[in-house]
Amino acid sequence: MHTVYLSLGSNLGDRPANLRAAIERLHRPPQIRLTGVSSFYETLPVGETPEPVPDYINCAVSVETLLPPLALLDYIQKVEKEIGREPTFRWGPRVIDVDILLYDGITLQTERLTLPHPRLMERAFALIPLAEIAPDLVLADGVSLAERLQNPQVLEQTVRRVEL
Ligand code: ATP
Ligand code: MG
Repeated sequence: MHTVYLSLGSNLGDRPANLRAAIERLHRPPQIRLTGVSSFYETLPVGETPEPVPDYINCAVSVETLLPPLALLDYIQKVEKEIGREPTFRWGPRVIDVDILLYDGITLQTERLTLPHPRLMERAFALIPLAEIAPDLVLADGVSLAERLQNPQVLEQTVRRVEL
């Protein structure tokens, strides 16, 4: 069994419903066991986009799985498609985005998959929900999640827990 942390986000349509639809699909396959789901957080978009994009709802999820990394990526991309994700510009509006943050302690750099997620360390919208379900995690390079959350660039980002 492998321990995997995922980041889920939606900034289009019924955002909480889209996250729930993705979470429900992580329950389905026999090779995946859902072990944790964070609260939902409303977050301001991060990253340069050609036009403004709406705010996100984000959460983090932990799973135990027998699927190897690329097979898991195949599955989450299928889920994104089923929920109705359509290609736009980079970081554009999307009904659902599912990213693999960490897969055991694996480091990987291929065309389709980079592990740990290359932008995890700088993203409060991924780190804060993750800290809720895995407070004792050590991220890449021996830096703890708790330490990373104290970084000024992370602290300045707007991430607000929402009751839904
Ligand atoms: P970002 O990578 O900045 O989070 P994004 O999630 O909006 O951006 P997507 O359009 O969802 O980008 O994904 C683009 C590609 O990133 C995917 O087709 C996938 O092959 C690749 N990718 C590389 N590493 C990962 C990862 N750890 N998790 C998910 N996708 C990844
Ligand atoms: Mg993605």
